[in-house]
Amino acid sequence: MKENILSLSYEELKEKLVILGQPKYRAEQIYYDLHNGKKLADISNIPQSLKENLLQTYSDNNIEIVKVQKSSDGTQKFLYKLEDNNLIEGVLMSYKFGYTLCVSSQVGCRMSCKFCASGLDGLVRNLQAGEIMGQVIVANKYLEGNVKDRKVTNIVLMGSGEPLDNYDNVIKFLELATNKYGLYYAERNISLSTCGIVPNIKKLAESGYKINICLSLHASNNITRKEIMPVAKGYSINELISACRYYFEKTGRRILFEYILIDNVNCSKTNAIELAKLVKGMNCIINLINLNEVKENNLKRCSESTQKIFAETLKGFGINVTTRRSLGNDIDGACGQLRRRFIEKKI
Ligand code: SAH
Repeated sequence: MKENILSLSYEELKEKLVILGQPKYRAEQIYYDLHNGKKLADISNIPQSLKENLLQTYSDNNIEIVKVQKSSDGTQKFLYKLEDNNLIEGVLMSYKFGYTLCVSSQVGCRMSCKFCASGLDGLVRNLQAGEIMGQVIVANKYLEGNVKDRKVTNIVLMGSGEPLDNYDNVIKFLELATNKYGLYYAERNISLSTCGIVPNIKKLAESGYKINICLSLHASNNITRKEIMPVAKGYSINELISACRYYFEKTGRRILFEYILIDNVNCSKTNAIELAKLVKGMNCIINLINLNEVKENNLKRCSESTQKIFAETLKGFGINVTTRRSLGNDIDGACGQLRRRFIEKKI
């Protein structure tokens, strides 16, 4: 498979064009047009021979939205088709301040978290940086936004895949997304959700990009975490919390811990106390999430009263607790569900 033209950073594009004997200003023009949602083939004011030359090496931005599901709460779920016909999902959430787009970083996932539908078939492949960027560009275009008037205001790397398992492409994506000739996102408007690959959290802390981290914790002790998240066999909760503290030290970004409440697994009062002790003294938020029940496993969400006791116990320790607004419940909101249904041809 060819490299997507969107994977080229502005600097790389400029170098490439200089080698091809093109004036430097072309890089600005092409980068701008591509990030504005145009395909290279459709950019009209550059020589045809140049387009042909580039398309011998790179594939055009052929990422397409093939299905949109609209929820009654304004959330929209996209099914994107990639150059090689693989499918990935994206979720667009509408807020007062604009739109947040949830993007995927891999086709499938190899983390095999018990509650998640994305990992059921394992990892198919990593996404290229340009394919992650392409999801944002295509969604912006869908919303009739352009480079100057961005409609997608925030990006969360929280779709299918484990972003820190595709580290280099994710870093390259950050370069693409924050470049001033393109959509020019502020780092504080980009978040990354990870199941906790400790060495790469540290690497990200040192990368120079000050993005927000959401950490999928989902358990208050190692035993439970290992039961539901195989990644926990490699890194203990204490190592994970230290890596988060380090991330905060380096970037000043407050950590958001994600915690899915699963009945009879992780939501007792004892768990809440354990969790409170774990994050004691940290500048963080605990975001409680209702389990989206997936038909492929037998995990169940817990009752409202259990949720309430859990949240109140944490608050009693002075912890910032939020509950994730459950968006898109009527449109296969849980990770990987839309793609699976589509593949199973049930929609
Ligand atoms: N691999 C990354 C990002 C993808 S998952 C990570 O683990 O964070 C994005 C978020 O959705 C994670 O917090 C994940 O734990 C959560 N999630 C996965 N399956 C879910 C389900 N069935 N119900 C609720 N949240 C789920």
